[in-house]
Amino acid sequence: MSDRLSRPERRNLQRDDAAILPKPLVMNQDPRPMAAHARHMVHLLRSPQAKTPSADAVNHVTALFDRSVPAQANKMIACRKGCAHCCTQMVIVTAPEAFYVASQVRKKPATVAAIISAAERTGKLSLNERLTANIMCPMLDEELCSIYTGRPLGCHGFVSTNLDACIATFNHGGKPDIPMPSDTVQVLYACRMLMLVALRLAGLRDVVYELNAALAAIFAQENAEARWLKGEDVFADVKVEAPPPPQFEQAIRQMAAYVAPTL
Ligand code: SF4
Repeated sequence: MSDRLSRPERRNLQRDDAAILPKPLVMNQDPRPMAAHARHMVHLLRSPQAKTPSADAVNHVTALFDRSVPAQANKMIACRKGCAHCCTQMVIVTAPEAFYVASQVRKKPATVAAIISAAERTGKLSLNERLTANIMCPMLDEELCSIYTGRPLGCHGFVSTNLDACIATFNHGGKPDIPMPSDTVQVLYACRMLMLVALRLAGLRDVVYELNAALAAIFAQENAEARWLKGEDVFADVKVEAPPPPQFEQAIRQMAAYVAPTL
């Protein structure tokens, strides 16, 4: 697609998108479902009427993840309520995910204080340093995630088929080697890609941050989300985590180029 759409083409596309959006994502070569979701998320992030654009975009992609992971993959996972071995590792988020988490904990002063204190310790650690630092996520409350339904996409998609591997890695400093169902990993990658494509097309910064550091930056500033949506880099002092690998970046670029003329 290289030219802008005509009005009838746009109407047809909207009709097709409306049929696609409620369905699970099927992992194949057809770019249209991904494009439909990317378009929708750009509208969620950019809608002048939206009161909670970040939450809307995150909820959309999280619900898509949930309905797209095959039941067979979910049956394989060993994760259970009250199991929080993995909640010491680094959580990587896009800005909308950080704003959404901030909105859920903002009215809990003890959690906010714990996040700010954790950020001082976790904000500059690498992925591997964080793994051995054994610092519990401040959102964890008696082995339960206090923002479970609204937790970041990475937490949503981080599942294990082997509890012993989690204990060896997270409790005994073993080599990180957590087995995950391949279908879950594929859907997680697709959903991560959607968020980054949508941010890029919305003209917003498509990078990722460590969760505590991003939250501390949000709590330190008035109206951080509104200012970020207007283009201000409210995360200027937060370390940007490693960019996606080249193939992933190429897939993001291709999808963004495919969707851009249809916006
Ligand atoms: S946000 Fe929730 S699921 Fe994610 S690391 Fe923290 S406590 Fe665990």
